[in-house]
Amino acid sequence: MNKLKVAIVGGDLRFVRLAQILSSKNFDVAVYGLCHPDIPDDVTVCSSLSELKYYPYIIGPIPFSKDGKCVFTPMCNGYISVEQFFLAVSNSYILGSVLNSHMCEQFEKHHIAYCDIMKMNEIAILNAIPTAEGAIQYAMQHSEITLHNSKCLVMGYGRCGKILAQKLDALGACVSVEARSTTDLSFISTYGYRPIPLNELKSYLPEFDFIFNTIPVKFLDASYIDLFNPEVVYIELASAPGGIDIDYCTSKGITHVPAPSLPGIVAPKTAADIIYQCLLLILRNQGAIL
Ligand code: NAP
Repeated sequence: MNKLKVAIVGGDLRFVRLAQILSSKNFDVAVYGLCHPDIPDDVTVCSSLSELKYYPYIIGPIPFSKDGKCVFTPMCNGYISVEQFFLAVSNSYILGSVLNSHMCEQFEKHHIAYCDIMKMNEIAILNAIPTAEGAIQYAMQHSEITLHNSKCLVMGYGRCGKILAQKLDALGACVSVEARSTTDLSFISTYGYRPIPLNELKSYLPEFDFIFNTIPVKFLDASYIDLFNPEVVYIELASAPGGIDIDYCTSKGITHVPAPSLPGIVAPKTAADIIYQCLLLILRNQGAIL
């Protein structure tokens, strides 16, 4: 039986681990824009975008692009323009990640079949585990106090917020969680954390030792930052542009820790396995495998 052909374009160490997994599972694997000595010998290393047309499934990096112009390729020196990529992959199905509305429009304009795997709950929930562990690792690295007994605020009670709150609680932190929905606030209370409605956030802000933001909207302006404990460690988990006015934060001497792509940094093997499970799900849904 012919091997199923899958290409990986760009990405961080987790995509190297993914190439290893796919190769071990007998896929016909190609990579482009991904250079690393651990890439197995039986993986085809493409030298041009045009070679991707032989691959019906293409897995793009996380995030797919940071600037909307080039595909994210942190492990190779080359530059892959998003526009050139679209022209080369018109007949393939693209597994993208963290695609904003402009990028989705570009996929549609080029009539390219795609999905955003980070919008799939099955993937995003599992991915929240290495994200939460990484956030805790960064918090420990940037502070002189223990998380145990510290006052932690988790902003947002979505997939990352839920798992992070649970892990901080398990470490003995005093966990408060901000949310805007009354349902979320009830769940937060039920799990034993302190619920903070978004419209009351300002009155609680001065007390926190750590703030973990998962809200993908920039709304923490000077009026909020002025209320921070000067020694707070602010960990930014939300994707760019994040949730805070970084320049103002810096001017106030607040410790602002950008924490993008944590699964790929702190647990690339686990993160690769999550993407592999996602690929299998998509292949099954499309009838490409049983
Ligand atoms: P999610 O499940 O959609 O949760 C987002 C949370 O933000 C929800 O509580 C949502 O509240 C809240 N929110 C959204 N818009 C808001 C607004 N305008 N005002 C107030 N609250 C708002 O997302 P997720 O999977 O947890 O991911 C959160 C962020 O982390 C995303 O930017 C994602 O790309 C990023 N991420 C980063 C890493 C990393 O390694 N740093 C890893 C995974 C994900 P509602 O439910 O009320 O809308």
